[in-house]
Formats: sequence, C-alpha cells, structure tokens
Amino acid sequence: EWENPALDLASSFTGRLDESTRGTLGKLVRSRTGNRERIGETDRESMFDADDAVVHNWPGVHDGRPLQRAWDLMNAVAEGMPRHEFERELFGLCAQQFGWAREMLEHPVSIAGVHVHTLDAAGHAYADDEAALGRAYDRVGEYVEEIVAALGEDDDLLVVSDHGMRAAFYPPDAGEKPASHSWRAYASSTTETAPESVYDVRRWVEERAAESGASASGGDEGIDMPTDRLRELGYLD
Ligand SMILES: [Zn+2]
Repeated sequence: EWENPALDLASSFTGRLDESTRGTLGKLVRSRTGNRERIGETDRESMFDADDAVVHNWPGVHDGRPLQRAWDLMNAVAEGMPRHEFERELFGLCAQQFGWAREMLEHPVSIAGVHVHTLDAAGHAYADDEAALGRAYDRVGEYVEEIVAALGEDDDLLVVSDHGMRAAFYPPDAGEKPASHSWRAYASSTTETAPESVYDVRRWVEERAAESGASASGGDEGIDMPTDRLRELGYLD
C-alpha cells in the first residue's frame, strides 16, 4: 500500500508481475517520488482475533515495518554494506521478535504469533556462502531453543515457514538460481504432529490452543498479587 492513491491504483495492476520486476518498479518509484510503500493489513478475520491471542510483526496482520527493514538490509548488503553491520541489524530485529515471544510465555495468552524474517534475509545474502548461512541458522536455532526451554507444561511451539531458500552449495538446487525462493516450506512443533499444509495451520493452532485452555478470562491467575506488601509500600489505598 502507498500513501499516494495513484501509486496504490498502479500497484493493484502490477501484482501479477514477477517478484524481481515488482522489486525494480518499487525501487524506481521510491527513488523518483520519495514515497515509501507500507505492507497492507487485512480486515479478514484470523486466528489472532481469538480471545487473548496476541500477534507481533506479522506481515499483513500487524506492523510489517520490521519486515521492510529486513528487506532494506538485504538490499544494502547486496550493494556493499559490511556483513558485520548487516548481521548486527538483522539479529537485532530477530532478538526483539524472539524476546517478545519469550515474554508472552509469562502472560495468560491463548495464541502468540510472531514473524521472524532473519533466515529469508540471510538466505538471499549468503546463498553462496555455506559457512555464513550455517551460522545464521545456528543463531536462530539458539533462539528457538531458548523458547522451547521456557515453555510451560501446557505450552506448545510451532515453527513454520512459507518457503525455503535455494543455495548454490545445496545439491538438490543444482541448476536453480541461488538466492531465490524454493517451495521447501518447513513445519516443526513440540507436539507429536505438525500441520500438513499451509491450509492446515490455523486449525492445528486453534485445536491446540483450545486443548490447553490457556486464557486470561478466568481472572488473574497468572499474577500473584501480594496486596499487603503493595499496600505497605503505598501503591494501594
Ligand atoms: Zn525472500
């Protein structure tokens, strides 16, 4: 979406062009007009509309600006930004997103969803450098492990991707363009099952959320309120 109605109209026609043509057109418009697109947000109902569900940086649903920042970093590193700077910024975003997810475990929420763009950006930047891409996967893996270690008894974690990345050094990608998207999507969970397809994700999540019964509506069971102590300190009348 663009702030400018003419650009908005034009972009409704360019949606069928391939990704790199749209990227080039977008860049041209940005540099010529100073307008910056933003990631639109849908009005459609989603699993994050459920009671006590929370969502963070989920493109199309909540605040897509960190995704745009990751895209900008990806372009900047292709144009010569030093790798240490790229990684510092990219993992800074990554840390905020995993940190948010980690914090949500301390609150009575039913579903918490967060989008992390690190591996797509690293996959574009390091499609010809196995060691560098490996380090990015390891770092994201450490964040995932921290979440798993912090899960409560009734909590489950689902990690899904909407696509994979083609790499120059990965034998099944021979003859394909490195740094492009593959159709190898990924799903893994802390339960016995994982969604079979993207169309199955919502049902899968909602079933598990219902089973665990996690909800804030039962009151403040998640917060132990030492009222006498608070009164002593003068925070309560
Ligand atoms: Zn990508």
